[in-house]
Amino acid sequence: MKFLDEYRDPAAVARLRHAIGQVAKRPWVLMEVCGGQTHSIVRHGIDELLPPEVTLVHGPGCPVCVTPLELIDRAIAIASRSDVIFCSFGDMLRVPGSRRDLAGVKAAGGDVRIVYSPLDCLSLAERNPDRTVVFFAVGFETTAPANATAVWQAKRRRLTNFAVLVSHVLVPPAMEAILASPINRVQGFLAAGHVCSIMGTAEYEPLAQKHRVPIVVTGFEPVDLLEGTLRCVTMLEEGRHGVENAYPRAVQPQGNPHARQVVEEVFELTDRKWRGIGMISRSGYRLRPAYAEFDAEARFSVNEITAEESRLCLSGLVLQGMKKPHECPAFGKECTPQTPLGATMVSAEGACAAYYHYGRLRGSGCEVCG
Ligand code: SF4
Repeated sequence: MKFLDEYRDPAAVARLRHAIGQVAKRPWVLMEVCGGQTHSIVRHGIDELLPPEVTLVHGPGCPVCVTPLELIDRAIAIASRSDVIFCSFGDMLRVPGSRRDLAGVKAAGGDVRIVYSPLDCLSLAERNPDRTVVFFAVGFETTAPANATAVWQAKRRRLTNFAVLVSHVLVPPAMEAILASPINRVQGFLAAGHVCSIMGTAEYEPLAQKHRVPIVVTGFEPVDLLEGTLRCVTMLEEGRHGVENAYPRAVQPQGNPHARQVVEEVFELTDRKWRGIGMISRSGYRLRPAYAEFDAEARFSVNEITAEESRLCLSGLVLQGMKKPHECPAFGKECTPQTPLGATMVSAEGACAAYYHYGRLRGSGCEVCG
């Protein structure tokens, strides 16, 4: 398959693995900030192919994982109303709230539906004028354009029975928070290729300059990930910092101007709480005042709902690269995908779930080169 097979080519993987081994002379810690990359790294055993000098840690790149527990509880409160049709992507349904999840609301008779696009909610709202259709707008910069488009269209179509529960977060402020932490051990980043395909690469330059770190825009296949790692380690060994693009087939420096334009029209920056990490200044989006009528939190008065995290869960340390999932005492015991204590275990893109599914405690190898 074009654009896939060549990026899983065993010979290319072996060549890059050898090159990293030749370049890496000192210990380096690199972080990817994308759940898709985390999943691919663990699935293909990329981190286990690397020389002992290079450690990959997994950052807060899974949007489901960083959605605060209290926001899940607010979603459940809204979804439990008889006058609401609550729509979400499928990965949010099994994320546990304080007492139950959205799948439990559905099982109890709530009208909770999985949609594949927020735009589907608009026609649903038109067909159900006596109920309010609420979309759970979770995600990073990648999902923001479609969600912004849905709100923009709803306003033009004068839909009064559509609203969004917004939980959008942004990657660069999270990287800034990790780099600024006194316990930080990350020395270089593999930046998420799909985020950069929307936003471009300019936002990363100030980070790289301020903290003197290499940031390499990286794709998702084994060859992409090893190429990004090689370029990051090479920059570190040569004492260079800055931004490099190792994913040019998808990422242009300016990103996608049309997508950015609709996001800019509908959303504005706000402080956001990240699950396991806490509040990060200007790290997410909220609706602009011109679109406030579509704010589900305000419409259903759920802002006062708060929640307390499990004391056993170390996902905050996992998300900051301070712990690997299997170093959590609850991993595979109290906490499994069937009984998740934290969102990093329930989401397919969560680091804990990836380690569990791919049997990291039982040993694994690379799917590509064995
Ligand atoms: S294994 Fe479970 S309890 Fe431990 S950090 Fe991961 S999600 Fe939290």
